[in-house]
Amino acid sequence: MTPEESYDIIVIGAGPAGSTAAMYAARSDASVLLIDKKKDIGTPIQCGGFLPCYEELEELLPGADLPDTLKDIPKSCIHTSTRIHRFIAPNLEPKEFEVPANVLDRSRFDKHLAREAARAGAELMIGTRADSIEGDGVSVRGIHGEFTIKAKVIIGADGPTSLVAKTAGLIDRNDEMGRAVALEYELTGVDIDSEAVEMFFGRDYAPGGYAWIISQGGDTANIGVGIRQPLCEKGISAQDYLHRFMYEHPRAAPMFEGAGITAVISGIVPVGGAPPETVKGNIMICGDAAGHLIATNGGGIPTAMVGGKVAGETAAGAVSGTCTLSDYEHRWREQIGLEISTSVYVKKLMDGLMRSDPMMSTAMKMITPDQMKAMQRGRLPEPVKKILKSLNAGFG
Ligand SMILES: Cc1cc2nc3c(=O)[nH]c(=O)nc-3n(C[C@H](O)[C@H](O)[C@H](O)COP(=O)(O)OP(=O)(O)OC[C@H]3O[C@@H](n4cnc5c(N)ncnc54)[C@H](O)[C@@H]3O)c2cc1C
Repeated sequence: MTPEESYDIIVIGAGPAGSTAAMYAARSDASVLLIDKKKDIGTPIQCGGFLPCYEELEELLPGADLPDTLKDIPKSCIHTSTRIHRFIAPNLEPKEFEVPANVLDRSRFDKHLAREAARAGAELMIGTRADSIEGDGVSVRGIHGEFTIKAKVIIGADGPTSLVAKTAGLIDRNDEMGRAVALEYELTGVDIDSEAVEMFFGRDYAPGGYAWIISQGGDTANIGVGIRQPLCEKGISAQDYLHRFMYEHPRAAPMFEGAGITAVISGIVPVGGAPPETVKGNIMICGDAAGHLIATNGGGIPTAMVGGKVAGETAAGAVSGTCTLSDYEHRWREQIGLEISTSVYVKKLMDGLMRSDPMMSTAMKMITPDQMKAMQRGRLPEPVKKILKSLNAGFG
């Protein structure tokens, strides 16, 4: 395709945030170009695909105006459904609560969202990388050639290493504690509880994060670790931790005996929260690019889509003159800002305890399943705050 010389809005990145932004902007009659460097939207996957069901999301993000694409998910995009969330403490004590959820086939889901954006009227340009941004011009290069395309508004939905956010000076990517490295394997031939998503804590397996098992249905599962480099042992990589978990964890390892690895998936998870500013001049950022993610569990699909919806609607509104671009800042924060910032605060309190397995086990023993569920939702019940603060104080 040859793009037009200019559009109202260019969206860079066709992940959940970008496709949602493009869809809502196009629905508001703006001319929209959605570009992605991938030649096949959604591939390779960088996700476990865990997504609480719609009713859970309404409780998780009560202030958010959820995109309809979070409600009407085609069956073909869902691997399986789970019901239980189980936490395993370092001392192997389990605790669980109910979270009805779907496990998405992220490749199919991302493609579905991009198609919805195209159906709404957005032009799609895949296999095309944004190389640089200068003023209202975006220089792109890819399978269709090299172009500089102009736009009134540029939306950066280009993920955790966002070029757009860096270009606009909106993010500090030197914050090592604000970035988790996630590595996961798709395994076939596992013997797991397919009703449950399990999260394992412990310094030997996932320093600064957790290890997980997410069923994909039948005997297939996604197992992974999310770790933070400053909390890791020197010279031990994410793969070393994942192999320790797979082959040595006393509770988990027996489930993987004889299983085969059918995919390797990795990526960065921005757990440091949103930057102070997410809009500057004609540039907005949303999704992982803007830290739209719940830091306590690393879940970013729903928050990315809410951020994308607000970005797309606000960009279109600014183009038609019904609002200003700067309205984006307070609009998305009103919807999901509290959950994101509280989850970062909770994560910081947990970081103190994660330095000691016995301390972490004690905290997990004292916190009730309902309170754990609240923490997973980016909330901090007062009794939990007291527990975490007193344990942290005792830890010195
Ligand atoms: C291993 C792993 C497991 C995870 N598991 C879960 C989970 O189970 N549940 C959950 O809710 N969240 C999970 N997450 C987080 C979730 O994947 C992200 O929060 C979510 O994908 C954010 O969506 P996004 O659209 O902001 O960014 P992305 O999905 O990263 O999309 C960004 C898009 O931008 C494109 N792009 C980047 N740079 C350019 C450029 N210069 N030019 C053109 N295109 C560009 C990329 O190709 C990509 O398609 C996980 C993350 C990782 C790394």
